[in-house]
Amino acid sequence: MKLPSYAYGQWIEGSGVPTPLKSAVTGEQIYEADSSGINFNQMLEYGRTVGGINIRKYTFHQRALMLKELAKHLTERKELFYKLSYFTGATKNDSWFDIDGGFGTLFAYASKGRKELPNQTVFIDGGTEVLSKGGTFVGRHICVPLEGVSVHINAFNFPVWGMLEKFAPSFLAGMPCIIKPATSTSYVAQKVAEVIIASKILPEGSLQIICGSVGNLFDHLSLQDVVTFTGSHSTGAKLRQHKNIIEHSIRFNMETDSLNCCVLGEDAAPDSEEFSLFVKEVVRELTTKAGQRCTAIRRIIVPNDRVQDVITALQKRLAGVVIGDPILDEVRMGPLVDKHQQAEVVERVKELSRTSEKVFESNVELKQNGHSLEHGAFFRPTLMYCSQPSASSEPHDIEAFGPVSTVMGYANMDDAINLVRRGRGSLVGSFFSNNDAFCKMFALGIAPYHGRILILNRYCAKESTGHGSPMPQMVHGGQGRAGGGEELGGIRSVLHYMQRTALQGSPTTLAAIYGEYTVGGKTHTDGIHPFKKYFDDLVIGDSLLTKTRVITLEDIEKFADLSGDHFYAHMDDDLARRSIFDKRVAHGYFILSAAAGLFVEPGLVPVLANYGLEGLRFITPVYPGDTIQVRLTVKSTRPKEGEHQGVVEWDVIVGNQHNEQVAIYTLLTLVAKRQRTIEYL
Ligand code: NDP
Repeated sequence: MKLPSYAYGQWIEGSGVPTPLKSAVTGEQIYEADSSGINFNQMLEYGRTVGGINIRKYTFHQRALMLKELAKHLTERKELFYKLSYFTGATKNDSWFDIDGGFGTLFAYASKGRKELPNQTVFIDGGTEVLSKGGTFVGRHICVPLEGVSVHINAFNFPVWGMLEKFAPSFLAGMPCIIKPATSTSYVAQKVAEVIIASKILPEGSLQIICGSVGNLFDHLSLQDVVTFTGSHSTGAKLRQHKNIIEHSIRFNMETDSLNCCVLGEDAAPDSEEFSLFVKEVVRELTTKAGQRCTAIRRIIVPNDRVQDVITALQKRLAGVVIGDPILDEVRMGPLVDKHQQAEVVERVKELSRTSEKVFESNVELKQNGHSLEHGAFFRPTLMYCSQPSASSEPHDIEAFGPVSTVMGYANMDDAINLVRRGRGSLVGSFFSNNDAFCKMFALGIAPYHGRILILNRYCAKESTGHGSPMPQMVHGGQGRAGGGEELGGIRSVLHYMQRTALQGSPTTLAAIYGEYTVGGKTHTDGIHPFKKYFDDLVIGDSLLTKTRVITLEDIEKFADLSGDHFYAHMDDDLARRSIFDKRVAHGYFILSAAAGLFVEPGLVPVLANYGLEGLRFITPVYPGDTIQVRLTVKSTRPKEGEHQGVVEWDVIVGNQHNEQVAIYTLLTLVAKRQRTIEYL
């Protein structure tokens, strides 16, 4: 069956000579891929003019809710994808990483999008910068979505996760995507795309997919587009130099394979927990996905006097790994993706053998399930040992993208760090030690060369997500050889699909642009207490100046008794003076309470609850006899999607009789929308 691509709103079958796609397990042909006949320029235009415009009608929260619905929809149909994933050579466990891992990433972005982004279409990055003495000229950074298409060129090893970990942040940012899965496993990504498109959960034009080559697509990229690439360094480097990418300075994110390390600490003796955790992790990484993970451990770096112990322990465990038809529950490792990769790995092992010796190659019989595995792309777990790692370049340069890893020894921590750095930049490095001083030395020593570092010991091993798993919350990417790019990392990756722009102007004008009151901007008072207003009626800049209140010694004493806070600076003039004060000072928490007493409206009002306080600073001490007064201003209003209430942020300034600021903070309240049926004041 020919796999159709989805372009400009329709499924299109190629009209040329197709590429046969074969089962990694049996070598039988299962699909054909062919993208000839597709108009790639039209795809880009459709993305820009239909998809982008449709997506950007929605706020971040609305987009996040769509991602959540999509994640649920796909999860309910996951068996469909598991069936296809089998043909890639994946065991159930491998498929879980790819399929459930991909859906988990959608869920994570759906949640982060609602928690960490505003319910708006513009993201404000950081605080206000005052650029003038008088405060009439200020600056602030905003992020807006790019108006092009996000083109994702993905690798063969994770057809689902690889697609969704890029799609989720792009879509959340407001960009439509064209997904180009690696041809060899494109049938899995294509099925996911088919289910997504049929669900109609996303706005039209959000997602298109190319099964086969990208043709002349790169020739039509323009300045608002983004390209993300995952795959081999050589292909990535070639695409990054495309004349259009260079001419239009098109954002190009690259994530490529790297020679990731796993290092055993000098403190980890053979009978320690860390030693056995280390061995377990190396074996897991070597065999998961048959070692075809960009994060897999390629270099096993251990203290010189533990080389033999490590090799013996790995040999023992690897000898027990069951290899064969991944459909069988007892099988721990399936084949490589295809015969081409198999031949590649054979070649790479030959190259590694120039300076390393083979110390293990599994000889277990392949477990069959009724059909011959003769034409499958199997490769047996292989362990190399390099006795001169400092003098050899092969173990640090040559990556066999399969179940192959090289053991090497180190003399001391500096030596270990130097060996790790010889990888010239990696996605991830891990260190197994129960000595925090070693951990610090190691982490800081290799951090400039790594996108992620895992430090594992007995305290976190049980709950650890492991060396090889990129988490949506944490950055995935790495220096140099690893491509120099960055993905995931929570909301950080959403910003990769947006333009950060520095806005400069008056506080009032800037507030009008991004919908958030900026100190120094115009405020307005209409005589109605803002707490009496519904969420829908509050306007940015609505403000209240309260009455004044004199703070007395009696207040301080009563508050100390009530709270139990008898800190010397509040209770004793003499001791207060020996600190940084002139005399006894009012509790900061009392000033906050007294401020609330000044601005709170006691009756039943649409304000439902105080739900947080941010950016609190106590600036000037309040002494007995001082007078305080509060200025409360609506800073922003953030409707909650699908709820009868919203969040109102209030800018609060507590001042004193000398017009000095005593305390500043942002107060968060939940405020009822008009739909709530309660009769307020
Ligand atoms: P490639 O770099 O050849 O392919 C990666 C992606 O780029 C695929 O989608 C591929 O499509 C696409 N591609 C290839 N050439 C072009 C082009 N001229 N224009 C646009 N897109 C293109 O990697 P392979 O899949 O062949 O794997 C080779 C090696 O890459 C592995 O042995 C391993 O070392 C490394 N690798 C790294 C991964 C990582 O996650 N960092 C993952 C997988 C592999 P198509 O499939 O149609 O050629």
